[in-house]
Amino acid sequence: MYFDEWLSERLDRTKEAGLYRTVRTMNSAPQPEMNIDGKKQIVCSSNNYLGLANDKRLISAAETALHHFGTGSSGSRLTTGNSIWHEKLEKKIAGFKRTEAALLFSSGYLANVGVLSSLPEKGDIILSDQLNHASIIDGCRLSKADTAIYRHIDMVDLEGKLKETQRYQRRFIVTDGVFSMDGTIVPLDQITLLAKRYNAFVIVDDAHATGVLGENGRGTSEHFGVCPDVVIGTLSKAGGTEGGFAAGSAVFIDFLLNHARTFIFQTAIPPASCAAAYEALEIIENSNEKRQLLLSYIKKIKTALVEMGFVVKGDLTPIIPVVIGDAQKAVIFAKRLQEKGIYAPAIRPPTVAIGESRIRLTVTADHSVREIDKLLESFYVIGKELNMLI
Ligand SMILES: *Cc1c(COP(=O)(O)O)cnc(C)c1O
Repeated sequence: MYFDEWLSERLDRTKEAGLYRTVRTMNSAPQPEMNIDGKKQIVCSSNNYLGLANDKRLISAAETALHHFGTGSSGSRLTTGNSIWHEKLEKKIAGFKRTEAALLFSSGYLANVGVLSSLPEKGDIILSDQLNHASIIDGCRLSKADTAIYRHIDMVDLEGKLKETQRYQRRFIVTDGVFSMDGTIVPLDQITLLAKRYNAFVIVDDAHATGVLGENGRGTSEHFGVCPDVVIGTLSKAGGTEGGFAAGSAVFIDFLLNHARTFIFQTAIPPASCAAAYEALEIIENSNEKRQLLLSYIKKIKTALVEMGFVVKGDLTPIIPVVIGDAQKAVIFAKRLQEKGIYAPAIRPPTVAIGESRIRLTVTADHSVREIDKLLESFYVIGKELNMLI
């Protein structure tokens, strides 16, 4: 009784702060149009950027492996959970990311936590971008190294912090490749230069960039033509499946296999998921069509919204934040969108700064031109209704 009362009170505070969350039930495979809360909606919040999560080739690859290997891996990779598919996928990831080796984790979240909690030691410091993903923040918290936060993609602030921290044994700069709320691309070329100048290591989390950025979708390192020390990523976004990874030198991967606790003490993902992810990387590597279509959609949407008079943040990524400003107004905007059959969430403080509440749109290569046009038209109509456009 006391237990539930105590938690209800805490939840009340969550509600008062406007931070109460609930889940929605999707009764179909990820598609551009889905039935959400009993109403057909164009989904503009999915990370399935290339539409691979419901691709016949991935389904078939998973199905074949499923019949051979069963539904579960049965253990940690270091005990009974390692299959030929895990190894094949790791080789594929390393080839795709142009690194010597790669290690598979059960998720991107666990890859970040595993790397950051094991790699930097006591006496080291991690320099972390202010807008880094929660899994990076949690990894820093578990690390024995100190952490300093620099302002979002602010190279002057980062350089200042590099200068101030020379007494530390080693410095690690850790950053998202594409930032999930702002859609900005990290200037990895500049970060690499600073790291060289100040003798620091670079860790980039390419969760939103893998499959999307670079000529062949290899991510931010390909986009800028640089080689960070560590690349972390996930197969759950453009990859359309599940599983996270770290990629880098063979020694680094050997180190992680021996020291990353989220690798050692976690049941391996099922071989069927690996087979599907392998197929996804194969597709991503060998065709640019979907990526180019995606990029053309991104350009079309951003150009149109800016022309209408909206403030749109970020670089050319599938994450398109449209700034509404006031939190309440952003909620109303999202609600109007839903009434028109478009699902895109309002993002409010504390996730973003006060006065910067926004609609966070994402677009995928699976959307049709008709759906994109409907999205743009709805933005225009609602923007007019709410007196946001001249
Ligand atoms: C989604 C995301 C992750 C987590 O990846 P999962 O595979 O979903 O656990 C980590 N980092 C960033 C930047 C992300 O956007």
